[in-house]
Amino acid sequence: MFVFVIVVCSPRLLALLTGKFAGAMAIWPFVVVRKLDDRFNASLLNHERIHLRQQVELLIVPFYVWYGLEYLFRRLPTKSHLRAYQAIGFEREAMRHESEPGYLTRRKSYAFLRYLRRTRNSEVSE
Ligand SMILES: [Zn+2]
Repeated sequence: MFVFVIVVCSPRLLALLTGKFAGAMAIWPFVVVRKLDDRFNASLLNHERIHLRQQVELLIVPFYVWYGLEYLFRRLPTKSHLRAYQAIGFEREAMRHESEPGYLTRRKSYAFLRYLRRTRNSEVSE
């Protein structure tokens, strides 16, 4: 199944929203990329498509609120932006499955919930 996505190249918008941290960002219904060539980066687009699905499941705005709150919750004990980012449940699901082209076709609704709980090695068994 093809999952349609609208890709926008805007390094300025990404810089405004994430500084120099992110190479791309899903802002429903768009995927914003820093470099034009990234529109051909399959794993990056798959990662962002997973976020688009998560956003729809949470009716868009609550996704961003949840994302921000979870980031703060993860950031406090680690004091590390990167570790906090990588620990966010939405990111853990997207990172884990970004290299699987058919993931969204077999993904169960609200699959990100399985990634909220930190396990000893931060992995979720399938
Ligand atoms: Zn992500």
